[in-house]
Amino acid sequence: MSDIKSCPACGGRHVSEIYRLDAIPVQSCILLDSEEEARAFPRRPLVLMFCDGCGFIYNRVFDLAMVDYASTTEESQHFSGTFNRFARDLVAEIAGLYDLGGQQTLEIGCGKGDFLQELARQTGTRALGVDPGFIPERLPGADGHDISFQREYFDPATITEAPDFVVCRHTLEHVPEVGRFMHDIARVIDGRQEVGIFFETPDVRRVLEEGAFWDIYYEHCSYFTLGSHARLFRREGMDVNRLYLAYDDQYIIQYAAPGAGKAALPQEEDLDAVRALAAAFPEKVAAIRRHWTDFVRSRHRDGKRVAIWGGGSKGVSFLTTNGLGEEVAQVIDINPFKQGKYLPGTGHLVSAPEDLTETPPDTVIVMNPIYLPEIGAQLADMGLEPELVAV
Ligand SMILES: [Zn+2]
Repeated sequence: MSDIKSCPACGGRHVSEIYRLDAIPVQSCILLDSEEEARAFPRRPLVLMFCDGCGFIYNRVFDLAMVDYASTTEESQHFSGTFNRFARDLVAEIAGLYDLGGQQTLEIGCGKGDFLQELARQTGTRALGVDPGFIPERLPGADGHDISFQREYFDPATITEAPDFVVCRHTLEHVPEVGRFMHDIARVIDGRQEVGIFFETPDVRRVLEEGAFWDIYYEHCSYFTLGSHARLFRREGMDVNRLYLAYDDQYIIQYAAPGAGKAALPQEEDLDAVRALAAAFPEKVAAIRRHWTDFVRSRHRDGKRVAIWGGGSKGVSFLTTNGLGEEVAQVIDINPFKQGKYLPGTGHLVSAPEDLTETPPDTVIVMNPIYLPEIGAQLADMGLEPELVAV
């Protein structure tokens, strides 16, 4: 296990601890076939450090070897209508900004390939997707587009065609050595000024502000704000052209290009504010953890059935961070690949929404507020009216 004492983003030594968990499941997207296997799933500590120099937050004791992305991870959010609309709109935005017809796009961490396929459909780009967890059987087919995939971690040595456009969504937060990663991207771009770069990464500022402990889990070893995200790229000699929060302010969207030294955007200047948030975080997160533990335990004591909607990382973190188990009766997920499987840590069985009609819950805790309308409508369709709250 590594123990990183200087900032992996900027190399600074002025780093301080802001959060510590003794033992959390090393994978929270994984699906287990039995309750026993799920409960016995390996755990490791997490120690979040804040870099005073650049605002980057990272898990000091992260061990990449514990996370097997080539196994049965189930990160795809593409079963939600809300997420699909968001991804389609993003592709439309990219298509409006870049002329990618016949150009070569590289997507690092392409997951199951859905986004790349939509990008090819809307822009006519040729494309290569790289991801150790890519499952060929899951993709409906290239549909006449020139798309290929490499089932491996991103390594500049295996990228044979220099890309004109680089896409990287929900991947940077899984990379421990983010400085070296940017270096590798610069290598495949190879100084060509016309290359476009698109990144989408979870934003940690809201996590700091809200004490959102469910958004902190083992696979996420690196955490960014708008400013620390942009600073990472500028350090590698890139310009940041467009930078904003999307998806209910949960994700950082950033467009960059090999740089000519453009001035920082106003929204990058967040270091003082983030320093203050980091300093207040230990107390904030402790209070929020107490709130949700009390919320669940008091309902359980009153004989109420509590269900959690969302069998992904947030749900696993929500349960395991606070040691909740039998107090939560059910875990629901719309992703059919998760249903019938067990959550690492607590060993909860993941059920389909339809299963709620047999055992109606009194309270449903939604793991992502953006899905509240979607979930509320689905519950109403089933004739259910439980107390519905979002974290
Ligand atoms: Zn730093």
